[in-house]
Amino acid sequence: MLPLALRLNIALVDYSQIKPPAKKIGLNGPKSDAERLVSAGRVDDDAAFELKLRPNKLSEFIGQSKAKEQLAIALEAAKSRGEALDHVLLFGPPGLGKTTLATIIANEMGVGFQQTSGPALQIQGDLTAILTNIREKQVLFLDEIHRLQPVLEEKLYTALEDYKLDIMIGQGPAARTHVMDIRPFTFVAATTRPGLLSSPLRSRFGILLRLEFYTDDELRFVVERSADVLAVPIDHDGAAEIAMRSRGTPRIANRLLRRVRDYAQVRASGKIDRETAQKALEMLEVDAHGFDELDRRLLRTIIEKYDGGPVGLNTLAAALAEEQDALEEVYEPFLIQIGFLDRTPRGRVATRLAYEHLGIDMPRKLSLF
Ligand code: ADP
Repeated sequence: MLPLALRLNIALVDYSQIKPPAKKIGLNGPKSDAERLVSAGRVDDDAAFELKLRPNKLSEFIGQSKAKEQLAIALEAAKSRGEALDHVLLFGPPGLGKTTLATIIANEMGVGFQQTSGPALQIQGDLTAILTNIREKQVLFLDEIHRLQPVLEEKLYTALEDYKLDIMIGQGPAARTHVMDIRPFTFVAATTRPGLLSSPLRSRFGILLRLEFYTDDELRFVVERSADVLAVPIDHDGAAEIAMRSRGTPRIANRLLRRVRDYAQVRASGKIDRETAQKALEMLEVDAHGFDELDRRLLRTIIEKYDGGPVGLNTLAAALAEEQDALEEVYEPFLIQIGFLDRTPRGRVATRLAYEHLGIDMPRKLSLF
């Protein structure tokens, strides 16, 4: 039978046009993405904090109703059959909860959880060791699967399909292959770039879950839940203020909450209300849409130097002294998502919302469109 994804005809978003960001961004930009307060990527000191705030059950996982429903049905069906859950592919921008969902799957199934990533798996022996030691029905989570080496990917095929593993014994002419059985398990893979996965690999997944940017209301729940876990006093408006500036991303919401909490403790009564949140975020130079200096510079450049666009990616990158890759992956996705920037065949265009946000009058000829 065809995999579930094909039967349901679920479309995959193609993030393949986006290349990985350069390590250091920009010559005149003082910050790399990892140093930005509003980066969706994981920053070094996020790890311990994120662990504490990670929801453990599907019912605690906020938003993503479509993905959650699809998963809840699959979990219940697998549990009632007493089988391992089908393999799951999670995809969407960073910081939206892919790792969190993978751990939730293990918790809900009541099975073990093991985590690795595409770049961490360097040699065949590593993958063989992981697969041969796998426990019955456990979850094996592989982050950044688009960065898995092709030879390892091929090795995965039989493991995922038949729970069998081809291993080589001996070397040179005396080498023989031996087929080994492995225990049934659930493979959960995550990627920000599903378009880079080969179709044989994609077809091994029975459940495809696409994560979307969160609404402001959903993020307010995330902030309130996190404040509760951290025992930080916060009111409804304070949480809404942080949510609004979090670029649709729970990871950023949690990071901003942490910084606002510090400000509230030192400069205010300790409680986060709207005014405290606003002052703290102003001090941190995160504006009402969660833009920082880099976003504003990008929009201003298009508007002021190129009459609002269209301007080609190379020209824009040169004008900003930034890497093209960084522009495409780090800055643009959120600006496009909220309608401040358009990616047209002739180049990037600043929209009316961008003019309004920056308080610049839109030229009449443009405002007619
Ligand atoms: P990804 O793997 O997609 O980069 P993570 O799963 O690591 O993202 O999520 C980042 C942080 O955001 C987690 O520590 C978690 O606390 C929080 N988070 C993500 N999604 C949700 C959600 N739906 N509800 C509550 N918190 C969430």
